[in-house]
Amino acid sequence: MTAEATMDAAPDPRVPAAGAAAQALFASTFGASTFGALPTGAWSAPGRVNLIGEHTDYNEGFVLPFAIDRRTHVAAALNGTGRIRVASTFADAPAEAALDDLDVMFPASEARSDAPRVTEWATYPLGVAWALRLAGTAAGAGVDIAIASDVPVGAGLSSSAAIEGAVASALNDLLGAGLGPVALAQIGRRAENEAVGAPTGIMDQMAAMLGRTDAAIFLDCRSLAADIVDLGFSAAGLEIVVIDTRVSHAHSTGGYRERRDACERGAALMGVPALRDVSVGDLERAQQVMDAVTLRRVRHVVTENQRVLDTVRALRAGSPAEIGPLLDASHASMRDDFEISTPELDVAVEAARAAGALGARMTGGGFGGAAIALTPHERIDAVAEAAASAFASAGFAAPHVFTVAPSHGARRDA
Ligand code: ADP
Ligand code: MG
Repeated sequence: MTAEATMDAAPDPRVPAAGAAAQALFASTFGASTFGALPTGAWSAPGRVNLIGEHTDYNEGFVLPFAIDRRTHVAAALNGTGRIRVASTFADAPAEAALDDLDVMFPASEARSDAPRVTEWATYPLGVAWALRLAGTAAGAGVDIAIASDVPVGAGLSSSAAIEGAVASALNDLLGAGLGPVALAQIGRRAENEAVGAPTGIMDQMAAMLGRTDAAIFLDCRSLAADIVDLGFSAAGLEIVVIDTRVSHAHSTGGYRERRDACERGAALMGVPALRDVSVGDLERAQQVMDAVTLRRVRHVVTENQRVLDTVRALRAGSPAEIGPLLDASHASMRDDFEISTPELDVAVEAARAAGALGARMTGGGFGGAAIALTPHERIDAVAEAAASAFASAGFAAPHVFTVAPSHGARRDA
């Protein structure tokens, strides 16, 4: 099999096909309405890759994501109906709700039994409108939103934060809310946590809102202080290859909840508010006060926080190639201590390294999704081929392999 056969065609960021698709969907879905066929504007927000710092966000620790050159686009306009109507190329039919009903539909855990229901994907955009309403910005006039995306869903690239960021940016502008990117990230997170019911941290939304070209976002998840860290990948001839295993995860189910509970238990046993407050030097004491499983979960989070700090130091010193071993150590920690890897992710990581990647790790919440490999430009085809043939030998479905470039965050495009 040739490399060409295994690499997905890279999306050309200068040709926003998903942007055009959102415009077309807007016209075909809402075009016949009183307010006409033209959306008032176009907005987009990216997916993200987390370079390092996995399952540290909800432990109030450090993460280092970057926004990618795959985006979710929305075309939107006020509609004067008092209703929010949403359409996605992802779904067969649009969904809608009266704005006044949002308050009885969400939070999902407390929704009244007689509350109107919408299909699951629509809870992302409706949840954003609801969270904005709680923050004091009501979409009183009503709004139409059409959505199209080239962020793969469920691949660990956070298509959810991309849709939240794009919708939040559109509503922020259309309603004149005047919220900044960090506030919009918090709106997105609230929608995902309370309207969708997925217990995620703030990392994905911050990356989608704050991304910069050629840079990562070093985020302190306790203070929400965000520093831009230049990656220097292109000058060093390095790229990030994504190997999407196409085994999809389910964030809101058992495994993720169990890890969060273990982290909370570990912090309580150590007498601290969050695992952020436990250092590598404290792990010996941790061993005395907790069971073996909790200790492994805690050890992952504590050592991962340190790896993020070490990665930032190497990048700031202008040595991006030196982060390879930190990526490798991160993967081993997730596989052995946090136990959230899968056979597909382990095969992807090993194949990438054997073919010349400087380091590789699973990325995202785990239980499937994608691995990333820091790869010298001239080894990219070899890594793609190695992943494809290792998957074939293991009897796994062929992975999707593509490169991602660190890109800008949410913005208005037109
Ligand atoms: P991911 O790792 O991609 O963020 P999640 O399970 O967190 O996976 O979020 C994926 C969900 O987000 C989808 O199942 C769908 O409900 C919603 N979603 C993402 N992108 C879109 C889109 N373009 N249109 C409609 N819904 C979307
Ligand atoms: Mg998600």
